[in-house]
Amino acid sequence: MTAKNRCPVCDCKNTSRVLNYQTYQLWECNVCSLQFMSPFPTEQQLDKTYQEHYFATDKQGAYGYRNYANMQKQLQQEAQTKLAFLHEFVPKGVMLDVGAGTGVFITLAKKFGYDIWANDISKFACDKLAQREVRVIRGSLSKITLPKNKFDIVTAWDVFEHIPQINKTVKNIASSLKPGGILALTTPDTNSLDAKIFGHHWYGYKKIPEHLIFFNQSSINKLLEKSDLEILETKPWGFVRSVGFLLDRMVVFSPIFRPIRSIMEKIGFAKLTVYLPLTDFMIIAKKR
Ligand SMILES: [Zn+2]
Repeated sequence: MTAKNRCPVCDCKNTSRVLNYQTYQLWECNVCSLQFMSPFPTEQQLDKTYQEHYFATDKQGAYGYRNYANMQKQLQQEAQTKLAFLHEFVPKGVMLDVGAGTGVFITLAKKFGYDIWANDISKFACDKLAQREVRVIRGSLSKITLPKNKFDIVTAWDVFEHIPQINKTVKNIASSLKPGGILALTTPDTNSLDAKIFGHHWYGYKKIPEHLIFFNQSSINKLLEKSDLEILETKPWGFVRSVGFLLDRMVVFSPIFRPIRSIMEKIGFAKLTVYLPLTDFMIIAKKR
């Protein structure tokens, strides 16, 4: 066992290899059950991943979002649902959105009346965020220090799974929250129903090496506890996608689905959208 296979959350060496994925290895911590890729990509590789093409690529199978701009409508729907939910916990105040991307969420959050700060590591994303007239902090939260006791709420949508130095990042976020402040996040859940059904073919793993670490209730609890954050609520969280998109994914899993895909296309059902509370969970935690 080498140092590179230490659990990034508990820092223990009690880990086992669970999967080889392309040229990567996925390990699991036997204590907190976090799954993590080994080795992690270098800073330079990560920088390269999150440039413009990450947000605007049409290449099948490329990293990032297939035409991020075309997904705007779905992202806006998701942002609306999240804000309606968060409003119950924090009706107003100063909000930091971590991994804000091109700013679909913060634009809507501004309309809800929050005073917005946005963070991203991507220069492309930060340039877009600056146009939305919010305060922008560029850089990795494992390196730059956030202002202390500043925020009423910090959001991190689909971000934690991308972060190699997760303990440092969460400590930074926790110290930036006011006492009683809320951290709200979504991330893939290795105990989700689809993770159990698809096993090694699970969607979360398909995004390796963008996705570096994979949580479940036990590991996220351990991570947040270490920074004095108490989980108030956990709920399954999903996404809005077209039937065609979902069937494309299933065809990759097995060609059995190919004729079903064709029939759905012919009768026009492939364009319908559905909400599936799969893959992710949402965590709401409070700073003690
Ligand atoms: Zn662990």
